Amino acid sequence: MNEFNTKQIVKKYNFKFSKRLGQNFLIDDTVLEDIVEGAEIDKEDFIIEIGPGVGTLTRRLLEAAKRVCAIELDESLIPIINNEMKEYDNFSLIHNDALKVNFNELIGDEKSVKLVANLPYYVTTPIISNLLNKGYNFKSLTIMIQKEVGDRIAAEPGKKDYGALTLLVKYYCDVKVIRVVKPTCFIPEPKVDSLVIRLDKLDEPRVKVKDEKMFFSVIRSSFNMRRKTLWNAMKTFKLSKEKLEKVFEAAEIDPKRRGETLSIEEFAKLADEMLK
Ligand code: SAM
Repeated sequence: MNEFNTKQIVKKYNFKFSKRLGQNFLIDDTVLEDIVEGAEIDKEDFIIEIGPGVGTLTRRLLEAAKRVCAIELDESLIPIINNEMKEYDNFSLIHNDALKVNFNELIGDEKSVKLVANLPYYVTTPIISNLLNKGYNFKSLTIMIQKEVGDRIAAEPGKKDYGALTLLVKYYCDVKVIRVVKPTCFIPEPKVDSLVIRLDKLDEPRVKVKDEKMFFSVIRSSFNMRRKTLWNAMKTFKLSKEKLEKVFEAAEIDPKRRGETLSIEEFAKLADEMLK
């Protein structure tokens, strides 16, 4: 057991875990290694880490990368991380909510920026949506998430997990599953299995659409009313019956289908036709 062991650090500072902040700290060396290896970090990389905890993963990132900036919300962890990382001059810490940070200000002129995080599970989906929708210049996001969210991200059309999150990630990224992580790899143990995945940002979105707002709005409406036919789901856009018939005909999509059966290309066609 080395002095940088998570349990030792937690004990040293008498740190009290907060369930509310999704604090499950990694204690398994193989998982830490697999995250760093899976993120394919090198000395050119600027790493942004969300939620460093007591810095177990942070230390490994600092050894592998050019520079690391970590964002932590829990005030009680700030002096702990600062003290634990004091030997590194390539480390900086921001005390803030990751959902409120303007990442462009952190990224600045950096060319090779990778996000790495063992995410707090209560905000996984808002954090992923925010990081992708804002168009930040990340090369990749290597994240630990609940397995259930991972299954939604990697789902195929027609499957129960297929939804708005699947399509959002698919629009912007290629998805690579790195490994499954069991609850015993954390303290305290979460109730569910976790997954480490890497999202590689595409140079251009996967499909070309006339208007991204309309594209995501069509997707949202389709999955808000999951059990309804597309015909009924698209009524929220208040088009005339004739116009809506033309839209489905031009997009070559049967209006009796449900949204969960449409590929990303079909959603793009449908959204584009709605604008004509
Ligand atoms: N990286 C550490 C590890 O792997 O052991 C800790 C990961 S723990 C799952 C999540 C971390 O995110 C905690 O340190 C928690 O305090 C922090 N956190 C929770 N909500 C946050 C938020 N909205 N913004 C930034 N950090 C947050």
